Amino acid sequence: MYSNKEISTIFKTISGLMELHGENDFKTKSYSNAAFQIGRIHENVIELDQTTLDKKQGIGKSIAAKIIELRDTGTIAVLDELMAITPPGLIEILKIKGLGGKKVGVIWRELGIETIGELLYACNENRLAKLKGFGEKTQESVIQSITYYQSNQGKFRYAAVADVANEMVSLFKTAMPNAKIELCGDIRRQSNIINAIEIIINQDADIQNHIAGFTFLNIISTTELAISGKTVNEIAFTIYIVPDATYYFNLFIKTGAQDFVDTIVTKLNGVTNFESEEAIFKAVQLPFCLPELREDDLIEIPDQSKLIQLSDIRGIVHNHSTWSDGKNTLAEMAEACMNKGFEYFVISDHSKTAFYAGGLTETQILAQQHEIDQLNDKLKLRIYKSIECDILFDGSLDYADDVLQSFDLVIASVHQNLKMDIDKATNRLLRAIENPYTTILGHMTGRLLLSRPGYPVDHKKLIDACAANDVVIEINANPYRLDIDHTQIPYALKKGVMISINPDAHSINGIMDIRWGTVSARKGGLTKDMCWNSMSLAEVDKWLTSRKKKKGIS
Ligand SMILES: [Zn+2]
Ligand SMILES: [Zn+2]
Repeated sequence: MYSNKEISTIFKTISGLMELHGENDFKTKSYSNAAFQIGRIHENVIELDQTTLDKKQGIGKSIAAKIIELRDTGTIAVLDELMAITPPGLIEILKIKGLGGKKVGVIWRELGIETIGELLYACNENRLAKLKGFGEKTQESVIQSITYYQSNQGKFRYAAVADVANEMVSLFKTAMPNAKIELCGDIRRQSNIINAIEIIINQDADIQNHIAGFTFLNIISTTELAISGKTVNEIAFTIYIVPDATYYFNLFIKTGAQDFVDTIVTKLNGVTNFESEEAIFKAVQLPFCLPELREDDLIEIPDQSKLIQLSDIRGIVHNHSTWSDGKNTLAEMAEACMNKGFEYFVISDHSKTAFYAGGLTETQILAQQHEIDQLNDKLKLRIYKSIECDILFDGSLDYADDVLQSFDLVIASVHQNLKMDIDKATNRLLRAIENPYTTILGHMTGRLLLSRPGYPVDHKKLIDACAANDVVIEINANPYRLDIDHTQIPYALKKGVMISINPDAHSINGIMDIRWGTVSARKGGLTKDMCWNSMSLAEVDKWLTSRKKKKGIS
């Protein structure tokens, strides 16, 4: 079954390939337009019939037929034909940001380039800049995009591999009940980005045979010491086979980041036989350190009993509904949170400047707040009135003060004009933080892990300003964002700035993304008492009222 997002990507690819091959604009636009519209339709288009599809804006008869074709045959003939006449390297080049199909076509025909490597080489020889319609700037941004793309090849967001990895470990344990088996490497540290699933097993004569029996693993290499390959869904894995006597020592050195491990190993004086990881920490007179904290920048092992846990979260903050670009209605979202046992729900749809995401006009805000009042009368959960307010280019917020005042709290985020240098970006955010109505600063850098670096900011300056202005910082729990980065949390805590773990949910399914935000927040040492949304409803009420009073905006 294809999701709207996947179908949208397929149509985008068709349109890009048509452009590349010089098809007429009318044809290519109908596909790119369909890709855009499908991304905005709430029901799953693959389940709709031809007549319903025909009537959808931006789809029309011929696109509708392609969707039906995809459903019935699992492919679209026109896509297959285009793929067949396009060198595979060019399809990869199409994924590079900043180059549409037309430009890729020119590069192909004029320079004979068919792979990313060739393109980078041509850029370094300044050949792209000299092409008509390209120039120095385009060349520079292509170099940057390629470097970024290449450095992220074969990497995964934690959320994409966490469950597969745990499942592998439990299957192995069932197959080899007497062996010691655990995750190690960056997956055990629960890093934002994972290179491979790494598993460690103590020696057993039969490991190779057991592993070979798992059909979902494609084994590429097998030695006495390690088995490696890829899972059926293309995730790289390595299984280390170590002697029983040094199992815990190996688990330890294969888990922590390099500096963390080195600092401790040098104090072990060559001893490698331990009967647990706890014993290793004991040997160097340190408290046990949870795997997710064993990073290079860890200065001191904190009191881990107070670290935030998923079960500490009492309210769901930063959510979208069908009022803007969400998939579920406000009532559905709120009820889902209530049924999961949460005490409060903060609805923060997009603000008016985010027109592409259905941002709310002043009139719509009034209507939404009326609906909230009615829902609050009958639900056993409090809905807080909020907005994800765009931070405009000059750092001002997207509504007049009297509108901002109608919200219980305001989440301020940057969504447009992301190309900024560090001074511009920092000053833009500083101005928003200083606005008395800004309660929470949303996704601080705008990054999308593995697909878009954030704009650069002076984290310390921003955190200092949040401390001075009683602004809470969001850790956006969407696994693509995890923004603010966890490495910045220790400084925020030092400055007394609270962190809110927000799913930025655009559907009921998105609510539990708080799981990924919690994982990342723990890596930053966030404690329950500094997590804004682990406050109870009564505490949040009190906090919001006293903040408004302090700011003179109640
Ligand atoms: Zn946002
Ligand atoms: Zn949002």
